[in-house]
Amino acid sequence: MSSITSFAPGRVELLGNHTDYNEGFVLSASIPYGIRATGSLRDDGVICLSTQMGEWLHFEVAADAPFVRRGEWTDYPLGVVGALREAGITVGGFTAEYVSDLPPGAGLSSSAAMEVSTIILLEKLLGISLPGIELAKLCRRAENEYVGVQCGILDQVSSLFGKQDHAIFLDCRKTKVETISFPHDVCLLLIQSGVPHALVGGEYNERREHCFAAAKHLGVPFLRDASSDLLAASPLPDLERRRAAHVIGENERVLQTVELLESGDVAAVGRLMSASHESSRVNFENSTPSLDLLVSLARATAGVYGARLTGGGFGGAIVALVSRDAADAAGASIAAEYERRSGHHAKVLKCDLADGALVLNG
Ligand code: ADP
Ligand code: MG
Repeated sequence: MSSITSFAPGRVELLGNHTDYNEGFVLSASIPYGIRATGSLRDDGVICLSTQMGEWLHFEVAADAPFVRRGEWTDYPLGVVGALREAGITVGGFTAEYVSDLPPGAGLSSSAAMEVSTIILLEKLLGISLPGIELAKLCRRAENEYVGVQCGILDQVSSLFGKQDHAIFLDCRKTKVETISFPHDVCLLLIQSGVPHALVGGEYNERREHCFAAAKHLGVPFLRDASSDLLAASPLPDLERRRAAHVIGENERVLQTVELLESGDVAAVGRLMSASHESSRVNFENSTPSLDLLVSLARATAGVYGARLTGGGFGGAIVALVSRDAADAAGASIAAEYERRSGHHAKVLKCDLADGALVLNG
């Protein structure tokens, strides 16, 4: 069979931080950066993976070999193979070569882009067709069970369901996805702090436990079911109160933003994004001094409506909502001032909201 190329984008979380595993709401988007996987089936019983992470790395494993977690990038594609097999789909030998313009560990979900580019490629090569939401669930299972990161489904949904000039509104309880038109007079600046995050390192799983403990104290199944009023009326240890305040506040901000986008009130959306960052900093404690500096510089820059950390936190990138006309100048000035003050190089990606994963040929 001739070779197939798939593309899976990274994503930006616009609002709704750490809400997914709390069965809450998220507003996200696919971005025009991602991972291309090119591959074909093999009849020699070998899975041959290669990627260009600095230099080219090659890796081969027998197609019927049991999954062994190696703690490296191959866990992502081999985890997808494992999840497909668990679902009863036969996956034999194949080749996949990955090329990326998405920085890993920057909070833009290169991990989901690895998984989604793999599953879209295999779907095409194997001649099967699964609903998008099933693909997202299988990729999530790959990351949860095979890689060992207890992420929610946000990243995979955002890579699969993107639509140009639209945000993705995800209700994580119902796994219901809607796309919402985004105003044209603004775009996004994704600014990497130059300090990668390390979610596999444990903070993510620890925050999950805090959230589940807070929900238990509040007497609700998940924080999705709690309101600010319930939180205010309940005695809770300080740490759990702050974790819960973040998640409950994020859910409320997402729902408000969906309405604001319909009326095109970008200034109000920007204010909610900045409020989200403040809550990350104070309540959820998933920000870092670098991200705080980037956000405060962005907020003080002409044309920027609001800014916040995006993704899991603990490093990575911020997202700023900026007037299209002012975007280039704003990005350059934030990066220059950040470098002057922190000594780190900030990489700025200006982008619009983009289409989700697709097969590029075949
Ligand atoms: P994020 O998803 O925010 O980028 P993660 O820590 O979840 O950060 O995922 C990053 C990991 O994904 C990398 O350490 C690597 O294992 C894998 N990865 C990302 N991009 C690539 C790539 N181009 N080739 C191979 N593996 C990649
Ligand atoms: Mg990730």
